[in-house]
Amino acid sequence: MIKKTSKTALVRSTPAGLYCEAGDFYIDPVRRVARALITHAHSDHARAGMASYLTAQSGVNVLRERIGLDAPVAGIAFGERRRIGDVTVSFHPAGHILGSSQIRMEHRGEVSVVTGDYKVAPDASCEAFAPVACHHLITEATFALPVYKWPSPERVFRQINQWWRENQAEGRTSVLFAYALGKAQRVLCGIDPSIGPIGVHGAVDKMLPHYRAAGRPIPAGIIKASADHKDRLKGCGLIIAPGSVQNTPWLRKFAPYSLAFASGWMAIRGARRRRALDRGFVVSDHVDWQGILDTVEHSGAHRVGVTHGYAGPLVRWLREERGLDAYEAAARSEAAARSEAAARSEAAARSESGSGAAARSESGSGSESESGSEEESEGAARSGSEGGVSG
Ligand SMILES: [Zn+2]
Ligand SMILES: [Zn+2]
Repeated sequence: MIKKTSKTALVRSTPAGLYCEAGDFYIDPVRRVARALITHAHSDHARAGMASYLTAQSGVNVLRERIGLDAPVAGIAFGERRRIGDVTVSFHPAGHILGSSQIRMEHRGEVSVVTGDYKVAPDASCEAFAPVACHHLITEATFALPVYKWPSPERVFRQINQWWRENQAEGRTSVLFAYALGKAQRVLCGIDPSIGPIGVHGAVDKMLPHYRAAGRPIPAGIIKASADHKDRLKGCGLIIAPGSVQNTPWLRKFAPYSLAFASGWMAIRGARRRRALDRGFVVSDHVDWQGILDTVEHSGAHRVGVTHGYAGPLVRWLREERGLDAYEAAARSEAAARSEAAARSEAAARSESGSGAAARSESGSGSESESGSEEESEGAARSGSEGGVSG
């Protein structure tokens, strides 16, 4: 029922990012371009300096929060069809963070879909992933190995609640590291707020109004975890903060505490210990191995580009087991990825030294220290202290 695609791809990798020539636009570009379509506001997808941006309506405010409040960002409703050049474009929920999208492009009967980051597991903090039929799918592969099989979110939230109660009984503050945009809000929507007071780092706090405005069930009464409120949180509260605050004076004022991290990377043996954490909770905002295979199958695509993460193993599997025309699509140049990784390591080193980054964390703004290194991307895990992840 699905026709064969034309020889020329509707969307292809270029040094500036994924490019659609028929529409003359880029998706999540890494260099300055005239027209950028943005899948979501994480810093490995959304960069400042583009002449124009188009993103899902519900993601406009979090995108502006990241790239500049006066950035030229236009919003589009999910499912709305818009003509750009010779291409009909629409955005569809990706289930990754608030406003995250898959981007569908149609040109002369050929349909291509770029997933961006996505997950299929339920998440009250964002719109649910919607499968989109296409000829050509470009999927992310952050956790594309069979070893990645996520537990149910309900189970993980029960574990977090239990850990919090145990800490309370021992008079410890519960400090949960989570990416400031997306993961932190997902955790807030999933935990039991009746257990005790909840505090958040400034980088998490500034996103909350946008989530509330979008109707997401962020609990009421959340406190900004600043020095003024430390006595309300110490020994009984749950504090959600980006991992960059580890080993900073900001964190030490809540001692004694138990440290935990909510991330898909916590599924890897040794990851928790390497970061000197008491607990690791497997909560990922990316799709797991089986979720990727299901998504590819439901799309009906016969041509599949794979980007971000474990592209090689997934490409081989799709070719050999499914007989698909699968290939590795470099969403960004390797040089760009390397320089980003270097920048992240440097930022991590600065925050370890406790000088600049710590001072910023102390102020609660955290804008710089939580930018690049906080996304749950392949770069964040591999360039940082968890370099052994690929093993
Ligand atoms: Zn992302
Ligand atoms: Zn990403």
